[in-house]
Amino acid sequence: MKETTGLIVKGIGGFYYVKAADSVLECRARGIFRKNKQTPLAGDQVKVSLPETGMPMVDEILPRRNSLIRPPIANLDRLFIVVSVCDPGPNTLVVDKLISIAEHKEIEPVVIVNKTDLADPTELLDIYRRAGIPVCRVSAGTGEGIEQVRDLLTNRICAFTGNSGVGKSSLLNRLDPRLGLATGDISKKLGRGRHTTRQVELYEQENGGYLADTPGFSSLDLERCETVLAGELAGCFREFAPFVTDCKFTSCSHTGEKGCAVKAAVDEGKIHPSRYRSYVELYNAVKNIKEWELK
Ligand code: GDP
Ligand code: ZN
Repeated sequence: MKETTGLIVKGIGGFYYVKAADSVLECRARGIFRKNKQTPLAGDQVKVSLPETGMPMVDEILPRRNSLIRPPIANLDRLFIVVSVCDPGPNTLVVDKLISIAEHKEIEPVVIVNKTDLADPTELLDIYRRAGIPVCRVSAGTGEGIEQVRDLLTNRICAFTGNSGVGKSSLLNRLDPRLGLATGDISKKLGRGRHTTRQVELYEQENGGYLADTPGFSSLDLERCETVLAGELAGCFREFAPFVTDCKFTSCSHTGEKGCAVKAAVDEGKIHPSRYRSYVELYNAVKNIKEWELK
């Protein structure tokens, strides 16, 4: 029997659509996945067998680099974290939380500052540039910066997240009109349910990248499912790295101990105070969570 490998671009009602070579195969999955409580996800690389007659079968899921529960997706390369300069104004705590989750999962975070046609984004851009996190200045309204975002999709599996109203759907529509997403509160309410029950679909781009169709994916979904433990949090703030080993105490939590090199770096202007504030707040929120509570 012939075999091939490919990428799951969509799974719906027990059918999996696998991009292999130049075609998309409609497949079933082996019963073994159900027995092992393992579900193939969009983004999975899989082995598929091609019988002479009957449907192709997903036989095996190749090892994942990462996976998320909500939205259900595997092997994400980039997470675009959308924030708007105003209307609604930026919530940097949410942005920093999402960055931490991405870093923890080894997904490259990119901060997209949207609605730059409405207000000056300089301050917001500065916070993330100084942290060494890739940032894009865009306006889904005027189209500014869209090409830069498109370039970042090249050969990568990408998804968008961010609070409701920041412009995720508008940006996704600009990038790939095939998505045809509802934008704005009113039209979304009218179309309620359309995206809440649907599985993730990956849209192949001309540059070889894949865009996940996850407009209903707000920061809340991610936060509910994915947690970073307190001891791992400093490792998720990449600009802390040069300082964490210089603290007086090796067990330093960087939240106010004597001789903390991270806090000293904040005072010397080497770490942005907005990022440090988020760190302390997130640390206090997760410090009592034990690993077993997550299971
Ligand atoms: P989502 O909830 O994150 O998917 O946000 P939407 O894409 O639905 O956008 C929310 C509202 O902001 C809509 O009324 C959009 O027309 C508007 N909007 C989105 N991007 C921009 C932008 O760049 N500039 C302006 N002025 N309005 C925008
Ligand atoms: Zn410290």
